[in-house]
Order: sequence, then C-alpha cells, then structure tokens
Amino acid sequence: MITQSVTNLIDQLAKLPGIGRKSAERLTYHLLRVSKSDALALADAIRDVKENVRYCKTCFNLAEADECEICRDPRRDRRILCVVEQPRDLIALESAGTYKGLYHVLLGRIAPLEGISPDQLTIEPLVARVRTGDFKEIIMATNPTLEGDGTALFISHQLSGLPIEITRLARGITTGSVLEFANKEILTDALTGRQKF
Ligand SMILES: [Zn+2]
Repeated sequence: MITQSVTNLIDQLAKLPGIGRKSAERLTYHLLRVSKSDALALADAIRDVKENVRYCKTCFNLAEADECEICRDPRRDRRILCVVEQPRDLIALESAGTYKGLYHVLLGRIAPLEGISPDQLTIEPLVARVRTGDFKEIIMATNPTLEGDGTALFISHQLSGLPIEITRLARGITTGSVLEFANKEILTDALTGRQKF
C-alpha cells in the first residue's frame, strides 16, 4: 500500500524529462531512505533555483541578478555577439574557453512543426540590441540541425542591411549533433573556422 505522499512524489518525478515511471519510483524510494537533511537539501535547491534564478535582461542567459556575469564582465569583447539556442549551449562554448565576446540566448529555435514561431524566442530583443549596439560581428551558433539553420537564416535576414559581419560556426560539428555534447576541441575549431554567413 503506497501512501498519498509517496504517490505524489513519484508522479512529480515522473514528469521530469528522461525519467520514466520506474526511475521515478527508484528515486522516490532512494529519497525515503536517505537522511531528512539530504532529502530536504534537494527540495531547497529546487526552491532556490526557482526563486533566485532569472533570465539576464540583456542576453537571456541564466542570472541571479538583472544582468548575468558575462554581461557584467568588463574583460569581455563587447563588439562580438554569439547567438545560441539555450543557456546550456552557452555553457558548452564557455567551457571550451576560446570565446571572449558576449552572447545572446534565443531560448529555443524556430520549429514550425512544434508550433514554435520567431515571436516566442528572444529574436526581437536581439535585433534591437544589435541595432543600438556597437557590434562588428554576430556569430550564429545555433545547432547545425534543420531548425537551427533555419533560425540562423531567419535572424540573418532580420539583421541584413546593418553594417555588421554575420558568421556561422564552422561545420566541425557534424550536422545534427548538438552543441552541448560537442567536445572542447570541436567547439574551438568551429569557432576559429567560422565562415561568413
Ligand atoms: Zn547577460
């Protein structure tokens, strides 16, 4: 006989991506076994993230203040802007360590089949930012998938006519593979070998 609280936790965990019913049950029984403080540390971490983390008002990276640490860092090159789909893509590029410019996080990609249109992304603020900013180069670092390419193309059209060079990451990254899973060497090659869009 499973109690209501246990069932509820299994239901909540089962909603997470990649966690099936069986895994949710396993995690729940694990949490029942560990100490109260260990289990509540997880609950607190979830609460902290939801209460403290927001999107940077400039680049839409994750931040715990109005602006993220990258936007506030005076050592970053403010004339280069790298456009990525998700914060996790930004993290992958940052861990490669070669890129020193700024970012813009789209929070997704244009995906007509899933009903995701340009206005659901941060394309409008991106265009406004580029228009009013002092950028010399915009690097399209959306994923090399059909939708990532389409998104990059759409944005480059929006930015056409501005005196800015638009580049695309080199195809060191195999078509279809995802930025977040690429290793440092591949990401560095993709950045240094970027080509005019
Ligand atoms: Zn930022």
